[in-house]
Amino acid sequence: MDNNKILENILNAREHRAQLRAQFLKQQLNTLSLSLNIPGYPKSTNLISSFFTEVKKDLINYLQANRIELITKKETLILDEAGDFFIVPISKNAKIELKALKNLTENFETNHTLGRLIDVDIFNDLGVPISSGKKKACYFCGAHSAISCMRNKRHTKQEIRDLIFSDIEKYSAITTKNNCINTLSAFASKAILYEISVSPKPGLVSFKDTGSHTDMHFFTFLNSAVSLTPFFKEFCELGYNYTGKIATVLPKIRHIGLKAEQEMFKATGNVNTHKGIVFLFGISLFSLAKIISENTKYSDTLFRNLVIKITNGIVENELEVTLNKVTTHGELMYKTYGKIGAGIRKEVAEGFPSIFKNAVPFLDENFKNHLEINEAEIQKILQTTLLHIMTQNNDSNILYRTNFKALTQVKQLAKKAINSKKDYIELCNYCKENNISPGGSADLLSVSLLIHFVKNAQL
Ligand SMILES: [Zn+2]
Repeated sequence: MDNNKILENILNAREHRAQLRAQFLKQQLNTLSLSLNIPGYPKSTNLISSFFTEVKKDLINYLQANRIELITKKETLILDEAGDFFIVPISKNAKIELKALKNLTENFETNHTLGRLIDVDIFNDLGVPISSGKKKACYFCGAHSAISCMRNKRHTKQEIRDLIFSDIEKYSAITTKNNCINTLSAFASKAILYEISVSPKPGLVSFKDTGSHTDMHFFTFLNSAVSLTPFFKEFCELGYNYTGKIATVLPKIRHIGLKAEQEMFKATGNVNTHKGIVFLFGISLFSLAKIISENTKYSDTLFRNLVIKITNGIVENELEVTLNKVTTHGELMYKTYGKIGAGIRKEVAEGFPSIFKNAVPFLDENFKNHLEINEAEIQKILQTTLLHIMTQNNDSNILYRTNFKALTQVKQLAKKAINSKKDYIELCNYCKENNISPGGSADLLSVSLLIHFVKNAQL
């Protein structure tokens, strides 16, 4: 398109805007409009439009927070040769002087990271723009007013555009990152809250009872869950930004994990509620955030392969070296039962085989509309998911408290209970009577839920 044609189109688009405003004048309404200062042509791209959408959302929230009433049913949003444009009339009920409103919107611009790009205009019901008399600073140098730099041609259009595009790109990368981290950590909290709320559970603490435990109850888990939330964000942050070697990242994940554990013990009065989850979610959230940050769509295979890489050699390195000097539960179980007793380390080293065989596919199939199903149905689906895990998992919590025979028995009872409520209650009773608590499987239920939420949201 030649320059004259472009100019003509831009002028036509501006004329259209004036007409829009004139409609509101006839109705004697003041108006507020939003546009961006993009020099040159084109005035908009996909990147700019999505930035504009964010700014518009933010501005409306800001005005609402300041109790400015807009007539949103008469709002208009357009994208044409003059760029992105939004106009909305201001309610006659708004108890604010237009000058004060102009000051308010100028504060919005000033406090926004890219505020020099943003133009919020207020027109009174005679079509006169409200001005505060302040001159907007030049986007490029900030040292002079925008008008002065334009008149004196201090910068070329191209250099200003390059800076604007690169700034918007950075801004949108930060927004995307924050959204990802907030969503993932909220899914993690939701997963552990769902797990603890499944009631009753075999030998485990639930909303209804404390299973085989005497030192903790439902509220202990709520205290613990809340204390972990900030650390879920930290795991995601690490994964999202990580560019180092995967083989050396585990100590970094554990470093955050240890801080999380200390907060957990503080919140529960020294009860171990979620130590396993801290370890599993540390690795899982790191992996999920890393996969998403690389603009790759989540897949089970990508996730599992990354977990395997992170935890490569963990069973041998952490359980075998101390065979002669057993100091932890994990080492004792490994010494006694070999690979069967390698617990959660074996599970991560193999990329969560116990959940990907049946549990995650079962959730993907039955839980995708979970916001629309009733509580009894949710309970049933999550209990069945837990049973699917228990039939697969060699839970070292069970081995530690009892023996291999009891583990085998629990796995068989869990298989029977998948399709029978009566057998489920029998399994719960068996666990209670024999002081069995499949805590490892409960942790894996939380991981299954986290994975399912991510898949369902198509992150
Ligand atoms: Zn300048």
